[in-house]
Amino acid sequence: MSNRTFTMIKPDATSKGYTGAILDQIIKAGFSIKAMKWIKLSHAQAGEFYAVHKERVFYGELVDFMSSGPIVAAILEKDNAVADFRTLIGATNPANAEEGTIRKRFAASIGENAVHGSDSDENAAIEGSFFFSGLERF
Ligand code: ATP
Ligand code: MG
Repeated sequence: MSNRTFTMIKPDATSKGYTGAILDQIIKAGFSIKAMKWIKLSHAQAGEFYAVHKERVFYGELVDFMSSGPIVAAILEKDNAVADFRTLIGATNPANAEEGTIRKRFAASIGENAVHGSDSDENAAIEGSFFFSGLERF
């Protein structure tokens, strides 16, 4: 069972002013923030972060979108963090997300879906290290 995951509040959500409400929902769900920054990825950095999706048809669109504006990147801690966070955010496509989930409340489409959540302990560690040095996490 993991106790840490990694998240990003994506450019659609930051630009619509949802950052505070999303962080509030995350904290009220029992996650504590171990690292956090407000940052805008370059096109190259977004491409590197999502390199695992390089062969997918939506890769270009995804990289353009993720470098289109500021994001909030954070490392979160809770028992069973990876699985519980994915439950909290809901399905990739907000149309299929459960009522009350972050994507149901704040996402507009499968591409612009408000938040990212790591899909495994291994990727949570890799993704957290992409954004944060040892000095920036607590
Ligand atoms: P994330 O990794 O952002 O938490 P996820 O794990 O639910 O999302 P993935 O399959 O890892 O979904 O896809 C990564 C991201 O790529 C999605 O969050 C979404 O922004 C984008 N994406 C996925 N499928 C599509 C699609 N069919 N069309 C456009 N964008 C897509
Ligand atoms: Mg994913």
